Amino acid sequence: MASPLQHRGEHHVVVIGAGVGGLVSALQLAARGLSVTLLEAADAPGGKMRQPLVDGAAIDSGPTVFTMRWVFDQIYASAGASIDQELQLNTLPVLARHAWSAGEEMDLFADPAQSRDAIARFAGPAEAARFVQFCRQAREVYDTLEGPFIRSQSPTLASMAGELGLKGLAVLAALGPMSNLWEALGKHFHDYRLQQLFARYATYCGSSPWEAPATLMLVTQVELDGVWSVEGGMHALARSLAMLAERKGATLRYGQRVAGIKVDGGRASGVITEAGEHIAADSVVFNGELSALGLGLVGDAARRAAPPLTPSKRSLSALTWSLHAETTGPFRLDRHNVFFQPDYAHEFGDIFARSRLPRTPTVYVCAQDRGDPATTSTPGRDRLLVLVNAPAQDGHPLNESEIDACESHTFSLLARYGLTVCRTPQNCLRTAPADFERLFPGSAGALYGRATHGWMSAFSRNGARTRIPGLYAAGGSVHPGPGVPMAAMSGQLAAATLMAHLDSTSRSRRVHISGGMSMR
Ligand SMILES: Cc1cc2nc3c(=O)[nH]c(=O)nc-3n(C[C@H](O)[C@H](O)[C@H](O)COP(=O)(O)OP(=O)(O)OC[C@H]3O[C@@H](n4cnc5c(N)ncnc54)[C@H](O)[C@@H]3O)c2cc1C
Repeated sequence: MASPLQHRGEHHVVVIGAGVGGLVSALQLAARGLSVTLLEAADAPGGKMRQPLVDGAAIDSGPTVFTMRWVFDQIYASAGASIDQELQLNTLPVLARHAWSAGEEMDLFADPAQSRDAIARFAGPAEAARFVQFCRQAREVYDTLEGPFIRSQSPTLASMAGELGLKGLAVLAALGPMSNLWEALGKHFHDYRLQQLFARYATYCGSSPWEAPATLMLVTQVELDGVWSVEGGMHALARSLAMLAERKGATLRYGQRVAGIKVDGGRASGVITEAGEHIAADSVVFNGELSALGLGLVGDAARRAAPPLTPSKRSLSALTWSLHAETTGPFRLDRHNVFFQPDYAHEFGDIFARSRLPRTPTVYVCAQDRGDPATTSTPGRDRLLVLVNAPAQDGHPLNESEIDACESHTFSLLARYGLTVCRTPQNCLRTAPADFERLFPGSAGALYGRATHGWMSAFSRNGARTRIPGLYAAGGSVHPGPGVPMAAMSGQLAAATLMAHLDSTSRSRRVHISGGMSMR
């Protein structure tokens, strides 16, 4: 095994997984002169940012909302590149279109003044004024937590309290002691529909608005700060990061599932692939679901790296339909569309308390060729991702008839609201929680790692370090959490932590992301 103080180019890192966290780690480590081999089980990069072919069309079937562009600006810059030269990003004028019944629709816009006017028309001027107040508070919460929490390597309550200062503590205290997101929104909005609209942002972290802390209103701020489309779809971002990592000297190998992480003398020392190949490494970065380690899915030696999540801590899964289909009806599809039902609490009760598919699901539809003048679709047909929230599969496995019933509720709701989707077995690919578990082993189909339920949950996420020296973790199941930009930041943190171990002469140094990757 090589010494941590050896020449950088001699330090070999194996990255397991080409999700966004793994790609960013591989890119940043290669850009700093380390020898990097990335092994990915699938035949393409991206992980959840996948793009299966359905009826000849490539459909974005994972993340669809690109936010926090600055995170990627910094990542590309830290590798001596520019995101604008690698990808075509377009600002979307409409953040999302929301519907509560046929004709009862409201858009949120990139321009806050336009959103305020839309809310005034939809729910009255007093509600529009409350929206402005809400934006002010969401901005304060975001600004307060970005440094001490989001960018920090592994924040604790104590470390965060120290960094927040009196002003930061006052911002958090104003949310109300221990209040959940739903209650906090109820203090702002008198119109239930708006409370519901902004509560939905808890699901971006796979959580219930009734159990998520009020601080999760910062997710709203992330979206209000702008949403972009990526030409070629979100998957193009993964391909671009993969190409850049290769240009920096990383070797990326697809169709290579790692069956075991080797540990020698208490330190990670390499991996064994499913095909039986042994690859020695001085450090290993694991970008799969963190629970896979504790469950022994990457070998017994790595079990003690991190304990698996207990089922009650899992985040949301989803039931999705990727479609290349004709749509009819009066609903004007935009790129991001949300169809609400009146009983929102019931949806989360079904999922988290009764561990079943929601009887009254909220339906999200991404029409990836709409809303952006720069893209065109096949005339008459749309590339669609239809998504409803679902429970993870630790409880009773969902059977086909439950899934069929949910499918029928979903598409009849859309038709009632004015959007008929002409689906056939040929133009539709359905993905259920059990399929997500197969794609992302150890997740039980949960798509966002640990749910952010309760005030302390955000501090319970593992950081980049694991209990095994030389083994690091990156991805949506570790700090700072799920979502493409957050998982990307976790990749930066894993790379920065590894580099700090490699370079450090001082044990007291703390790792922090600021402007790419640096330490203080
Ligand atoms: C349907 C859906 C919608 C979403 N919507 C949004 C959204 O709009 N906006 C947003 O920001 N986020 C969204 N997310 C969340 C976001 O996609 C994820 O948080 C993020 O992409 C996770 O990245 P990751 O780094 O954790 O890696 P993952 O995407 O989880 O990828 C991990 C990779 O590791 C590989 N792997 C695992 N184990 C092994 C092994 N043993 N050997 C080799 N390879 C292995 C897997 O094959 C996989 O490719 C969505 C997710 C889904 C599924």
